[in-house]
Amino acid sequence: MAEKFDVIVVGAGPAGTSCVYTLAKGGANVLLIERGEYPGSKNVMGGVLYRKMLEDIIPDFYKEAPVERQIVEQRYMMLDKESAATFSYKGLEWDQEPFNNFTVLRAKFDQWFADKAVQQGALLLNETVVLECIVENGRVIGVRTDRPDGDVYADVVVLADGVNSLLAKSLGFRKELRPDEAALSVMEVLKLDRTIIEDRFNLEGNQGCTFEIFGDSTKGILGTAWLYTNKDSLNIGVGAMLSGLIQHKIKPYELLDYVKQHPMLRKYIQGSEQQEYLAHLIPEGGFHSMGKIVGDGVLVVGDAAQMVNAIHREGSNLAMTSGVLAAETILSAMQAGNFSEQMLDSYRVNLMNSFVGSDLKKYKDTTHHFEKFPHYFNKYIPMLNKAASQMFTVDGTPKREKQRKIWREIGTAGEKFRIARDLYRAWRVMK
Ligand code: FAD
Repeated sequence: MAEKFDVIVVGAGPAGTSCVYTLAKGGANVLLIERGEYPGSKNVMGGVLYRKMLEDIIPDFYKEAPVERQIVEQRYMMLDKESAATFSYKGLEWDQEPFNNFTVLRAKFDQWFADKAVQQGALLLNETVVLECIVENGRVIGVRTDRPDGDVYADVVVLADGVNSLLAKSLGFRKELRPDEAALSVMEVLKLDRTIIEDRFNLEGNQGCTFEIFGDSTKGILGTAWLYTNKDSLNIGVGAMLSGLIQHKIKPYELLDYVKQHPMLRKYIQGSEQQEYLAHLIPEGGFHSMGKIVGDGVLVVGDAAQMVNAIHREGSNLAMTSGVLAAETILSAMQAGNFSEQMLDSYRVNLMNSFVGSDLKKYKDTTHHFEKFPHYFNKYIPMLNKAASQMFTVDGTPKREKQRKIWREIGTAGEKFRIARDLYRAWRVMK
């Protein structure tokens, strides 16, 4: 007879593993199925891991987890062709335990995290693809895998299979991703001597920093580039909306080459050697793209349910919180012996009451707004850079005259009104 578990979780990313860890700790008999050779082998992330959500699952995790550097500085660059207006915050309070956020390499981190779930008693099955959910009388009762005799059964199946979730689509929970709902990102891990990184980025010991780069980095398409410091490597990448890439006929690797050679950035990576090249989709449709996340015997967590806060480049933390909330709901359902959609719906309710639901709702129109009005990136950022250049050039012109000149160059009264209206609209979609 085919094997039966309390719960099967598909996908060993942050969402799936958080769920499995919490379930196993709560005494459930859990199977975690991962298609990769090992957890993390197929996974991509810019690299910022948010401490709080993992700390809630494994207190003091950073003392043993393979984290790279604790982030003490966040820089935001508004890039034009030959200039950058930069805002940065650096705080040494983030260099004190328990720290704030860390950079991680997913191939190492996911493996460590899944091992912790196994230590709690979960069973991990690598190199196994889940082909479909087994559905009986409208209820999910297990999964069909690509292994011989590959059907496995469970009271609940959790879909944590990432952005493209074929399984959620096959259940009719969500539709195919549209090009305006996803960003295509490419990223390189560049090997660089640790002391060079520390000197170049003004870091001491294990301190790290992150750059988020807007504007010319994506040639005006909605998206960002990033540059993050690891122990002895850098992560450099760029992600742009699929719709914009298609419309402008730009390949993402062309954008990445452009970023790497940009005069404002190339010195940071000089002398480094490519270690890895990665590409992945990021779900950016937000709240409006979420679809159904609860059914009879089934829950959807993390990227599979499109839970990414693109404005704040948060995804792994939303994934982890959704995984934990799903696990807590399942543990209650096990006590009640009831795995119906009605019983499992408290996952959706708790999720929407958490920071995940609150932030997804807050930014629900943001991506589409900025996509519709690309001049935020291709017009206003160059304008800001030009104004900064004029203001900071000391040429004997009185400052008041400079201010008047900048004001005049912004354009006619009608253009000024349009800018004010755009800024107001931007504030409204993000407030
Ligand atoms: P994933 O991490 O995608 O995991 C899904 C897992 O399911 C994978 O291991 C996959 O192999 C497995 N799987 C898929 N299908 C099957 C199947 N049929 N059978 C078996 N296994 C299957 N978030 C941040 O918090 N900080 C960042 O800096 C950040 N930067 C990012 C940069 C990039 C380039 C990208 C692409 C994303 C970034 N994100 C970031 C978002 C973050 O990576 C995701 O939100 C997070 O990984 C979602 O976790 P998940 O577990 O839902 O999905």
